[in-house]
Amino acid sequence: MLENVGFIGLGHMGSRMAKNLIKAGYRVTVHDKNSDIMKKFSEMGISTKGTPFEVAETSDVVITMLPSSSHVIDVYAGTNGLLHGGKLLRPWLFIDSSTIDPQTSRNLSTTISNCVLKEKKDNWETPAKLDAPVSGSVIAAEAGTLTFMVGGSEEAYQAANLLFLSMGKSAIFCGKAGNGSAAKICNNLAMAVSMLGVSEALALGQCLGVAASTLSKIFNCSSARCWSSDTYNPVPGLMEGVPSSRNYDGGFSSKLMVKDLNLAVASAKEAGHRCPFTSQAQEIYTELCMDGHDVKDFSCAFRHYYSGKDE
Ligand code: NAD
Repeated sequence: MLENVGFIGLGHMGSRMAKNLIKAGYRVTVHDKNSDIMKKFSEMGISTKGTPFEVAETSDVVITMLPSSSHVIDVYAGTNGLLHGGKLLRPWLFIDSSTIDPQTSRNLSTTISNCVLKEKKDNWETPAKLDAPVSGSVIAAEAGTLTFMVGGSEEAYQAANLLFLSMGKSAIFCGKAGNGSAAKICNNLAMAVSMLGVSEALALGQCLGVAASTLSKIFNCSSARCWSSDTYNPVPGLMEGVPSSRNYDGGFSSKLMVKDLNLAVASAKEAGHRCPFTSQAQEIYTELCMDGHDVKDFSCAFRHYYSGKDE
């Protein structure tokens, strides 16, 4: 039913997700505004199109993986965008996996539900839209082990489940439109704060005479154990294969963390909800970026903020 997949946004994450769909046997058509990327895909024998609308014309479902809300709005509603004119032959399902604010996700869902399908698809007279941002780094995108957080209609979620499982290890339904985006920013704010908490505790421990390696061992079999201590430890040399052991290169950039914390702070403000740790984490990661560590993995907060060493 969803054999022809359009994919727009072939950056660090999207290029790998699109390749996993191809591996799983889907017929994939791609678009990115970067012509070098398009050339690479074309050279691999993958169908490329010059605009989002041309992708829409040949796809049952279109997945977008773009940097931010403004890029998503442009791809959907801009000139030659996916929703060109509001009367669609195809696709009947849109999935946005970009990390954007919940309100933009909801507005987009409303706009899409006001579009008309020229040909009815099963029971569907209007196209459906899911917000389905992901947790997992570039490595998880490559390995096909992402976690999708999905907002929208449950029927559309069920229809898309096999697609999600071709790119990820799980897809969790979060409820109405925008709830996937809300879940994603909450996940990342917890990750940002926990990384700072672990970094602060390990740095204090060192200062009090307990080595970070000893303290990490204790955390990992005690109540302080968490992803930031046992899977993505921020102290250089303690774990293999994590950004802290390769000068904080690769991984999830401080710049992207600031973007996500800005979304969390804005959403909290809109909801009238107090989030003091989020605001503090936003300040710390913004400072890191201003100090020139914007492309380093966000766990570099340990080195630059807590132990004060510079590269
Ligand atoms: P990226 O910047 O590497 O890729 C984005 C791609 O979108 C680029 O290739 C760019 O050319 C393309 N693009 C931008 N505007 C476009 C337009 N108008 N039309 C067509 N193509 C356009 O970003 P990324 O790291 O792949 O991240 C994508 C999304 O996934 C972001 O929202 C990010 O927050 C989220 N995310 C990233 C990671 C990560 O580790 N990188 C992890 C989880 C979630």
